[in-house]
Amino acid sequence: MDLRSTEPFWLLKNGLLTPYPSLKSDVSCEVLVVGGGITGALMAYTLTEAGMNVVVVDKRDVGTGSTAASTAMLQYEIDVPLHQLIEQVGERIAVGSYRGCVEAINVLEKLARITGTDSGFKRKQSLYFAHRTADKARLQAEYECRQQHGFRVEWLDRKALRQRFDLSSAGAILSTDGAEVDAFQLAHGLYRTAVKKGLRVFDRTEITQTHYTDSGVQLRTATKHRIEAQQVIYCTGYEAQTQLPEKVVDLISTFALASEPFEQLPEYFAETLLWNTQDPYIYLRTTNDNRILIGGYDESFRDPQRRDALIPRKEKTLLRAFQKLYPKSAFVPDRSWAGTFGETEDGLPYIGAHPKFPRSYFALGFGGNGITFSVTAARVLCDALQGGSPEELTWYRFGR
Ligand SMILES: Cc1cc2nc3c(=O)[nH]c(=O)nc-3n(C[C@H](O)[C@H](O)[C@H](O)COP(=O)(O)OP(=O)(O)OC[C@H]3O[C@@H](n4cnc5c(N)ncnc54)[C@H](O)[C@@H]3O)c2cc1C
Repeated sequence: MDLRSTEPFWLLKNGLLTPYPSLKSDVSCEVLVVGGGITGALMAYTLTEAGMNVVVVDKRDVGTGSTAASTAMLQYEIDVPLHQLIEQVGERIAVGSYRGCVEAINVLEKLARITGTDSGFKRKQSLYFAHRTADKARLQAEYECRQQHGFRVEWLDRKALRQRFDLSSAGAILSTDGAEVDAFQLAHGLYRTAVKKGLRVFDRTEITQTHYTDSGVQLRTATKHRIEAQQVIYCTGYEAQTQLPEKVVDLISTFALASEPFEQLPEYFAETLLWNTQDPYIYLRTTNDNRILIGGYDESFRDPQRRDALIPRKEKTLLRAFQKLYPKSAFVPDRSWAGTFGETEDGLPYIGAHPKFPRSYFALGFGGNGITFSVTAARVLCDALQGGSPEELTWYRFGR
């Protein structure tokens, strides 16, 4: 599957970073992580830290799948609003999932520090604003629900939004907890750190065959090398849908645009992630070299040719959307790109075992919180491999 257009911003900005060899002999390990994006990196790091003997393989260069295309806003706010999610899956799972994402941001902050990379991790507030006046009532309901469950939120009316964010909108929820990162850099930082503790990473190594036995899993690569693992964790991102017998995610195309660096950004941009109630929503963040990234205008198809052909038009649409919000701001478009994105019905990830894949787990952090869900996946599956039975395995199970 073609996960993204050829020139996502982070890959151009960073280059390939650390290259790893492809697999050139047979290997065995306790846990094989298939897929070396940010999910595989968080998983491999966590398991290696827990003392396990781990191998990671990726059919591309690590981090160059969806991870390189991600705008990497770190939000505890799941695509399905809390008050709606409570109706869909019940209070325990909904509130627990929102809290899990708050905790994931804390974990990512620690990891960014430990790995010592220039991952651009920055704490930010998050502003969820009404696209149309008619959206205000449900936004207010969401605000009250979040407040009732202890999330750190503030309601901003039209006047406050004008004064504090120079924004014309009927109302917004301002959340304290949010952050942004360069997921590609962070993934590389995690690999580099874990490799020093024994992790083995192989780029350009595709798993093409899998055979499950009573004692473990035997896998073959495209180059016919054998990997023997006691357990496998699939961190295969949106491509996992092609492995699974049932449909778990709607794959769509999404678009993003980076401005040229600004000399100086208004403080509200530098300190805040912004997104709105439009469907599909648009979202804005900045980078550590003072650019503004804007994304959205998703399309309900994932055909790579159609997707990439649309980039110039989507660039104009995103630019117009920005200019409508901030007519006085001089946003000069620099890079635009497209990627495959996935949405689940309840906005929640799939984390856990699947009956068709013995001795294996999946870590699939779909949706706008993909990265925070990947942190949860790493914690939950590490616990499960050590004999625990974390509650999230039932929340995020297949067939729910
Ligand atoms: C434009 C865009 C904006 C986004 N914005 C955000 C955001 O603001 N916040 C957020 O949290 N998330 C966001 N996301 C989603 C986020 O990027 C993903 O959740 C995340 O990158 C998924 O990481 P991953 O490691 O699971 O997948 P990937 O990075 O795609 O890694 C999976 C890897 O598995 C490998 N693989 C697959 N099959 C095999 C095989 N058989 N053998 C070996 N290797 C295999 C692939 O090569 C790939 O590298 C966005 C995504 C896009 C495209």
